[in-house]
Amino acid sequence: MAKIQMKTPLVEMDGDEMTRILWKMIKDELLLPFIDLKTEYYDLGLEYRNETDDQVTIDSAEAVKKYGVAVKCATITPNAARMPEYNLKKMYKSPNGTIRAMLDGTVFRAPIIVKGIEPYVKNWKKPITIARHAYGDVYKATEMKIPAAGKCELVYTPADGGETVRETIHDFDGPGIIQGMHNVEESISNFAKSCFNYALDTKQDLWFATKDTISKKYDHTFKDIFAEIYEKEYEEKFKEAGIEYFYTLIDDAVARVIRSEGGYIWACKNYDGDVMSDMVATAFGSLSMMTSVLVSPHGYYEYEAAHGTVQRHYYKHLKGEETSTNSIATIFAWSGALRKRGELDGIDELIHFADQLEQACITTVESGRMTKDLALITTIENPTVLNTEGYIKAVRETLEQRLK
Ligand code: NAP
Ligand code: MG
Repeated sequence: MAKIQMKTPLVEMDGDEMTRILWKMIKDELLLPFIDLKTEYYDLGLEYRNETDDQVTIDSAEAVKKYGVAVKCATITPNAARMPEYNLKKMYKSPNGTIRAMLDGTVFRAPIIVKGIEPYVKNWKKPITIARHAYGDVYKATEMKIPAAGKCELVYTPADGGETVRETIHDFDGPGIIQGMHNVEESISNFAKSCFNYALDTKQDLWFATKDTISKKYDHTFKDIFAEIYEKEYEEKFKEAGIEYFYTLIDDAVARVIRSEGGYIWACKNYDGDVMSDMVATAFGSLSMMTSVLVSPHGYYEYEAAHGTVQRHYYKHLKGEETSTNSIATIFAWSGALRKRGELDGIDELIHFADQLEQACITTVESGRMTKDLALITTIENPTVLNTEGYIKAVRETLEQRLK
């Protein structure tokens, strides 16, 4: 069989620990035999980040701006324990944070649905994709403990020397607490555009919800910016694609989400997204089955698994013990990136291959062959538990049959 040819390289960001092991296995078993794989390789493994003072992370994000599509392996975000373990020069920031800041993107998380791994919410039939605004609000807030009686105000001092504006927040009679938070129009607009673009891309409805009835200026501004951009730039395109933009109050949204059968994107403000993504991920069954893609308003895409480097399994692997690590979300990061590359470069075989690879992962599990994490929660009777490599080999067999 002739290998599928690529035009533009993918930006490949290698990573750490168990997912780094998966990375190589996936390439060797599931990609290189079928594709003349073109990538521009960046090693975001912690050792090389340390060697380059984290310059490699910045270079990799620049490469995404150049080529448009990236696939990323999970990486360690250093904490105190990692300092001696990797002999670090400093406590580097999270690569995902650095890349997100440079690409100004929104992260979309969607579960991979497989028969036999049933959501806790029985009417959920299709994925629910959560888009979380990743800037501002309570995550960039200033807080104070108020020790005793006194007045707290919001004060705006215009940079151009205009008149200062004051609003009383509260006249305290005794001790209390106070918080000031912000957002900026540009970030909200970019969030909205990323959401509208991703909805068009994936042909799914877009839901957005805030508490605009209570927060008449703050949350209402989110609602207004979304509405304005939608009317100006997306309404026509949504009609053509046969999809809908739907705004409602956050309380109403959570009720509707539970009653729904899924199959849409739920855009959330920063805090709502933080909380709801954990709720939705857990309700769908498993963290190891969650995909993640960073979409920038300028049309750059970076695909990855939502889980981390699976450190506990890696330490077992280092001791020579057998592991049963689920590679599905990492495989889907590759298939997502390859499909997007295929779409942008007009390579139908690459799109077809990405579809087949994903179906091979799914049908392998549905035939009862899976890693331990899934075996523990499946409704399939007597599943065959495979080790890390065994599952990837099983997917290879299924894939070869499908491609025949
Ligand atoms: P984790 O790697 O997501 O793993 C947490 C636990 O979830 C694992 O110990 C395992 O449970 C289970 N699990 C996760 N993925 C699995 C898979 N593919 N197959 C089977 N089981 C899986 O989270 P962590 O241990 O808290 O974090 C480890 C490192 O990852 C940290 O250094 C963190 O900074 C980093 N991290 C990176 C990213 C990213 O790059 N996007 C995201 C999150 C965390 P059992 O041990 O019970 O089997
Ligand atoms: Mg959270």
